[in-house]
Amino acid sequence: MTYDNNNIFAKILRKEIPCKKIYENDYALAFYDINPQAKVHILVIPKGKYISFSDFSKNATKNEIEGFFKAVGKVAGDQNLDEEGYRILANHGTNAGQEVPHFHIHIFGKQPLGPMISKT
Ligand code: AMP
Repeated sequence: MTYDNNNIFAKILRKEIPCKKIYENDYALAFYDINPQAKVHILVIPKGKYISFSDFSKNATKNEIEGFFKAVGKVAGDQNLDEEGYRILANHGTNAGQEVPHFHIHIFGKQPLGPMISKT
């Protein structure tokens, strides 16, 4: 599978479509999910072209991995989620229902988040 330069997050990174930006560093961009599934629902994406977590974990540089995960932690902290708790989630591929083929981590918070996996 090759990276699709026309995926929606690639367009956000190129500023071809807008996003509600929360934070960025050299390696990551964080913005609000357009269809929130919790009171707080944030996406953090790497600036590099990685299709999924699998691709990112295999092929990203140490600096990209560090810069990306530091951004995830910083955003959660800046949103005051550390004390009350939050969930991070990454969908990889078909079984997980990944919709956008650019690696991203969801951050959910500001409410009880229920069971880890849907029973339905
Ligand atoms: P996933 O199913 O893990 O690939 O999640 C993709 C997420 O991207 C979904 O939660 C969508 O609501 C979100 N999404 C899609 N388009 C946009 C957009 N233009 N801005 C912000 N979030 C988006």
